[in-house]
Amino acid sequence: MARRRRIFEGKAKVLFEGPEPGTLVQYFKDDASAYNNKKIGVITGKGVLNNRISEYLMSQLNEIGVPTHFVRRLNMREQLVREVEIIPIEVVVRNIVAGSLSKRFNMAEGTALPRSIVEYYYKAGDMDDPLVTEEHITAFGWATPQDLDEIMSLALRVNDFLSGLFLGVGIRLVDFKLEFGRLWEGEQMRIVLADEISPDSCRLWDLRTNEKMDKDRFRRDLGNVEEAYQEVARRLGILPEGGPSDFKGPTLMQ
Ligand code: UDP
Repeated sequence: MARRRRIFEGKAKVLFEGPEPGTLVQYFKDDASAYNNKKIGVITGKGVLNNRISEYLMSQLNEIGVPTHFVRRLNMREQLVREVEIIPIEVVVRNIVAGSLSKRFNMAEGTALPRSIVEYYYKAGDMDDPLVTEEHITAFGWATPQDLDEIMSLALRVNDFLSGLFLGVGIRLVDFKLEFGRLWEGEQMRIVLADEISPDSCRLWDLRTNEKMDKDRFRRDLGNVEEAYQEVARRLGILPEGGPSDFKGPTLMQ
């Protein structure tokens, strides 16, 4: 097979040219990074699990009418996606205080927020992805006010849906990061969800024990990182327990 053209290589994924115009292949690596590349490492099997978890969550979102770039999973580590023009903003939705919010306001991690908070960060690694306001985003032309209305409404729909989905399998969705892209269809432009949704980009806490089941285990050297990602997949019903023939649906908590 001819070598595919590598379009972009990030910390956890590689994007290759897709089989048809307007498509890309998203390859999930086991590499992990945190604190803006100050900490790097490998989480064995992460790429396979994140490919599956993101496939599952994006497909469920597609089904409820949230447009995404996801087309289909191709193999263990790759998925076919629509090529979009990435909006250079990380959209973070928070339900419970954790991470940078806890540090910025000196609030205890685990404090429930009276309502969900949506934050924007400018994607610029050399500046440590600064927190920005809608004013910066529109003034600097990264997105229009209409784009932002659409992004905010999609982010809140994603939050409602995923919070319920995770709650059903005994997991609290503490916070997560989304990326959006512009998809051009002739003259028409649509904003769609892009990138991935996985334990790399979400904080997921066990409902009963508050145990962390996400990348914080890697960031904070808590151990059992692979096991935590596997447990998320198992609860979502996308990790065959006794081999590929033993596929179950989500494990609902009583
Ligand atoms: N997040 C991410 N990529 C980033 C920054 C944050 O996926 O570059 C996710 C992170 O996993 C968490 C949420 O966004 O679920 C909020 O992260 P926070 O601002 O608390 O930053 P952190 O503590 O991760 O530095």
